[in-house]
Amino acid sequence: MGPSWSGVIAGALRPGRRCCHLVRNNASALKRCKPRAQKLPAGLRTLILLSPADPSPVHILNPAGAAPFLLVCDHFGRAVPHLLGDLGVPAPEWDRHIAWDIGIAGVCQVLSAALDATCIAQAYSRLVIDCNRRPGHPTSIPPCSDNTVIPGNTGLSPADRAARAAHIFDPYHQAIAAELDRRRAAGIPAILIAMHSFTPTMAGMARPWQAAVLHNRDPALSHALARLLQAEGLLVGDNEPYQLTDDSDYTVPVHAEARLLPYVELEIRQDLIASPGGQAEWAERLARTLPQAAERAGALPPR
Ligand SMILES: [Zn+2]
Repeated sequence: MGPSWSGVIAGALRPGRRCCHLVRNNASALKRCKPRAQKLPAGLRTLILLSPADPSPVHILNPAGAAPFLLVCDHFGRAVPHLLGDLGVPAPEWDRHIAWDIGIAGVCQVLSAALDATCIAQAYSRLVIDCNRRPGHPTSIPPCSDNTVIPGNTGLSPADRAARAAHIFDPYHQAIAAELDRRRAAGIPAILIAMHSFTPTMAGMARPWQAAVLHNRDPALSHALARLLQAEGLLVGDNEPYQLTDDSDYTVPVHAEARLLPYVELEIRQDLIASPGGQAEWAERLARTLPQAAERAGALPPR
């Protein structure tokens, strides 16, 4: 069983809960905070990155879901291990897309229930480690994100990096792999739906699409879903504003493409799902269109 939804949100919404939480904008206080972590020998930091007070990195919504769809959400939460403080990032920055995919947690909650689909979600901020990048990738533990410097991500030792992968990245991807292994062994179908959201503007450029489908080797489900959304009058990006590649992505190439599973990496524009109402609207739309798209793409097992 996964934790309750309220527990998921409570964990996901508490960035920077160490001594810096009252004085995040105070540079001298941040300097006092950082050495506390660095006093620990590297090996010990590797062992204790997560304390009992930190949330589990893996949250599973609707673990007994009967649908063939498996929702995965790499950027669901924005928790930070107590040991890392707030990474030296001022409080307002934690509300930006650099910390997580704004709005997508609410969409996943409603969609998971509406489809009766299991959702495996990552609780920790992409600023701690990006779970859609292979460890070692230059943006896996970003020293800077969309012009915001991340002081807690500079000067990391190999052990520091290994700890974030071992305690946050690995359990999440092992949970996805285990669920897919279980379904394969039991002859249960799996269709991977990777849930993301994107900013309305980037580098001063407005993004006109309401949603986007990203794909690489197998576009079938992406194109089927895009056509259904377009039929509702929506402008849908096709590998825009991002392309899905083996270098820029991890979850779909490793869990879907390597297993030859049908998939879509779905992006929803963040201003459309910033409120619970928008999240419910998009979840309802996807609960209606995803099964149709899967059927048209030949992704569903024969009845
Ligand atoms: Zn994302």
